[in-house]
Amino acid sequence: MKKNLKSKNMPNCVFCKIVNKEAPAEIVYENGKIIAFKDIHPQAPIHLLIIPKKHIASVDHLELEDKELMGELILAAQKIAREKNLKGYKLQINVGRPGGQVIDHLHLHLLAYGPGN
Ligand code: AMP
Ligand code: ZN
Repeated sequence: MKKNLKSKNMPNCVFCKIVNKEAPAEIVYENGKIIAFKDIHPQAPIHLLIIPKKHIASVDHLELEDKELMGELILAAQKIAREKNLKGYKLQINVGRPGGQVIDHLHLHLLAYGPGN
């Protein structure tokens, strides 16, 4: 049987639910492997989360096969930033509870102070 995307995802993961459109989100970008949406508690005028559709718990859980996907995640951030005409921005990945990670689905924070909100 052909595996679909849902079978790879974690049933109780809120970001997997956003990927599967089972939970609401303000999606700003999507392709086959990546989705980006607004953070519900923004820490800057522009605060987006860019995530792989594949459930990977954290950077600490990455495997060699995820190498290309991680490159695509950064390039998606660049694409979104260019589309929003951002002159500068911060990219941040929190890893593990001591590193400030609360949601166990790898995500790249994109924070910017404008223009392009
Ligand atoms: P982290 O601390 O790196 O795990 O970041 C998790 C981020 O996810 C926080 O900035 C939260 O505000 C954000 N967040 C949690 N739940 C949602 C949600 N349902 N939709 C959008 N952002 C969320
Ligand atoms: Zn997940």
